[in-house]
Amino acid sequence: MTDAAVSVTQSAVERFTEQYLRSLGCGIDVHEDKWEVTVPDGADTALSSGELTLVPADDPTEEESAEPLHPESALFQQILSEAGERCPTGTLSIETEDTEVEVPAWLENSVVEVEEIRFTPYYDRTAVVFLFQLSIETVSEYQREFLRAIAVDTRSDECLPKLEEVFLRLTSLDGNPTTSKQLELEKSDIRALLDPAQSQLLERIQGLVDEVHEEASRAADAEVEEYRQMQQQRIKEVEEEHSNLSSKIDELNEAINEGDQEERVRALKQRKELKSDYDEIDAELSDLRERRDQGFPERQREIRERHALDVRTTPLTVTQVEYERGEIEIDLKEDETVQTVTAGYGSGVGITEAVRCSSCNRELSDQNPLRSIKGGLRCTDCAPTASR
Ligand SMILES: [Zn+2]
Repeated sequence: MTDAAVSVTQSAVERFTEQYLRSLGCGIDVHEDKWEVTVPDGADTALSSGELTLVPADDPTEEESAEPLHPESALFQQILSEAGERCPTGTLSIETEDTEVEVPAWLENSVVEVEEIRFTPYYDRTAVVFLFQLSIETVSEYQREFLRAIAVDTRSDECLPKLEEVFLRLTSLDGNPTTSKQLELEKSDIRALLDPAQSQLLERIQGLVDEVHEEASRAADAEVEEYRQMQQQRIKEVEEEHSNLSSKIDELNEAINEGDQEERVRALKQRKELKSDYDEIDAELSDLRERRDQGFPERQREIRERHALDVRTTPLTVTQVEYERGEIEIDLKEDETVQTVTAGYGSGVGITEAVRCSSCNRELSDQNPLRSIKGGLRCTDCAPTASR
């Protein structure tokens, strides 16, 4: 997985728990292998107020009073479901001086030298970063959980993938925690942004959903096939029984036609019993054959339903992020040629404007980096051969 996705790993658990506890107003002292947490009186949580010792580890050492913290721990599960209900909010401000000006991806693998980059902020903008809990599961087997950040600009609804990474980095344990101060955004504004964020999330996880879906389909196919073979086996057994009964009835018919009085009576009685068994088997056999010929539709439906995917996205936290937008000027140099490129830029957001090759007009990117500035900005395909 790429982007701002984190599997529910130990470090993601720790990061999220730390953010969540701080949003409740808890104090956290991080020691080497444990956290001393102070839950204030009246905090909006089911955690009891007072001191709490957390041991963040997959396999915590035995300590009576300490609560283990890992993806499956009871405490973490409680925090996740509580966060889903409360959806705590926070604010974060990305000042220009907090983040280094980022070199655009199309310059990273370029032979062109960067002399200097200057960022001039023009105005403040606001984005909202939703941290989602994402779970993809089928009732039967697969369950995968992820925490995933999605950032949306409040004015334009545009998604800001760079900001998601910066958000996760800044809010990590050793970064600046978000503050739980009141949001300036109205609840209705946040709700309006949740839609584009959620569709963006679903769009980005489509590949993963498809993958799990394929796995689940394969599992369902295997189960259907197993059932089909079992039924085929049953049909074979019933067919044998059917033909046994049929030949026994034939024998009795002979006895009835040819035997003496006593034999006839006994044979008639036996034939009556066998006939009723035969009718039962006959009905079962035609039912089995009919269902087989139709491909066992009911059973298939039941199996496929059981393997159907359930994709759930739950917003866990909402963070209002203030950032600055403006322009960067990049001074470039190649041999004796110098050129300054100007492009839209946001702190924590990166470049917000496409820069194009002056020859073919294609957008420069990490796949198609700047190759030369002689005679305009040239992409790899358009650079004069001499400078390669
Ligand atoms: Zn080009």
